[in-house]
Amino acid sequence: MAGFRAFAAQVRDPRLLATRRRTALRKCLERFAPYGHRATWHHLCTRAGIAPQDRDPDPARLLAALAELEEARALWLAYEAECVARRRREKRDGIRQPGALDAWHRRTWGGCEIVPCAAPHRHPAAPLTAVLRTVIAAMESGRLRHDCPVCGSTRFRPLTDPDRRAAGPVCADCGVITPAALLTRETLAAARREASPAGAGTVAPAGAAAGSGARFGASMAA
Ligand SMILES: [Zn+2]
Repeated sequence: MAGFRAFAAQVRDPRLLATRRRTALRKCLERFAPYGHRATWHHLCTRAGIAPQDRDPDPARLLAALAELEEARALWLAYEAECVARRRREKRDGIRQPGALDAWHRRTWGGCEIVPCAAPHRHPAAPLTAVLRTVIAAMESGRLRHDCPVCGSTRFRPLTDPDRRAAGPVCADCGVITPAALLTRETLAAARREASPAGAGTVAPAGAAAGSGARFGASMAA
């Protein structure tokens, strides 16, 4: 089965029809999709100015979307390599103690659903690389917090899917599922109590995070 780089080469190939290059970009997302496949696709389309359903998009926009994805992937792969090297060192020195970070790595290794979004149309508006850097720094710090590491919001909702609830609550402003390992016990308890009549991930209108002091607000463009 072809890998990320082979599909990326197809996205770049000017001899291919735009529709085929678009399909290749979607295939890249089967290998690397920090928000999950659908939310990452929506994010890239929004930032590159592609209508998500447009089967024949402007190739220049496809290339812009690919560039953003590749930059994020390079950052993530470098982080994974660093983690592997660190683990080896710790093991050798006999100080290896698996913790919350390991559980997160197990879930996110390879780069799919690193910071999943509960709904495909609701995700942070900032570039993927900026969001990944922030989440990595938050996880690495090991400090429990009461706010979303991506946007700084303190409003959380429980996930509507009971099978996934253990992963963490949904940020009501930027839409990411915040890893439970990052949040204080009080924050998790408050999120569980939060009534969510409209369902997680369908909250706040577009731009609602803009005035909340958020670091990276949400994007909801169609
Ligand atoms: Zn957030």
